[in-house]
Amino acid sequence: MATAPLGIKARQQEGVLELQWPNGTYRLPYRFLRGRCPCASCVDEVSGVRVVDVEDVPLAVAPTNIQFSGNYAIKISWNDRHDTGLFTWEYLELLCQDVAAGARTE
Ligand SMILES: [Zn+2]
Repeated sequence: MATAPLGIKARQQEGVLELQWPNGTYRLPYRFLRGRCPCASCVDEVSGVRVVDVEDVPLAVAPTNIQFSGNYAIKISWNDRHDTGLFTWEYLELLCQDVAAGARTE
């Protein structure tokens, strides 16, 4: 079980969600984060195929609300009216690793 980040900051001007983990600080661009939404309307539940990807997301996408869900995840509401994505610590850690490894974020 992944542990909670030490800090979560939405940096609206830079358009990134900044996450502090014991091994460092990572920045997830909003569009990347929205494009990796793990919910059932973004990823087909049966086939596991991603329906909404980074390039399908509006350029100016930004969170309107970030809410803790228990102590294992955050739920992000976006300005494109999407609000069903639950990002667990484990999943966020994975996304941070992807970005660190040079994943396409636009
Ligand atoms: Zn979604």
